[in-house]
Amino acid sequence: MQGSCNCGKVSFAVSDGVSSLYQCHCKLCQKQSGSTSNTATIVNESDFKWIKGADSISQWKKDSGFTSHFCKHCGSPVPNKLGEYGFYWVPMGLVEGFEARISTHLFCNSKANWDVIPDGGVKHTGMPPDLDAFIKSLQKSQV
Ligand SMILES: [Zn+2]
Ligand SMILES: [Zn+2]
Repeated sequence: MQGSCNCGKVSFAVSDGVSSLYQCHCKLCQKQSGSTSNTATIVNESDFKWIKGADSISQWKKDSGFTSHFCKHCGSPVPNKLGEYGFYWVPMGLVEGFEARISTHLFCNSKANWDVIPDGGVKHTGMPPDLDAFIKSLQKSQV
């Protein structure tokens, strides 16, 4: 799958491995997205590549460690590498023509009062208790 920011200066490709998406309803994601949540997935670093525009990315880091990466020309959120864990976070609003569904909702207890979380999928009140299992659940099994 491929994705790009609003102005098109930043674009990327993910070779394979995504099976489903998650939505995070925490307060940070509400402010970052300007909406109910971030809808995203997490992919292996080896499956991710920048097509162009890695030099057009700015970032902001909160004292808590939350980091937001965005296109410095148009402000779209863009993928970012998750520390040293070997994964990239991919905001799905940038991706076109990829079929997947949301399997997990995070931070349901922090949701905006006008946010209606749909039935189905796994719901966590905060972070998933087992991060490894959560990330694996988003990826196609690597058999
Ligand atoms: Zn842009
Ligand atoms: Zn969040």
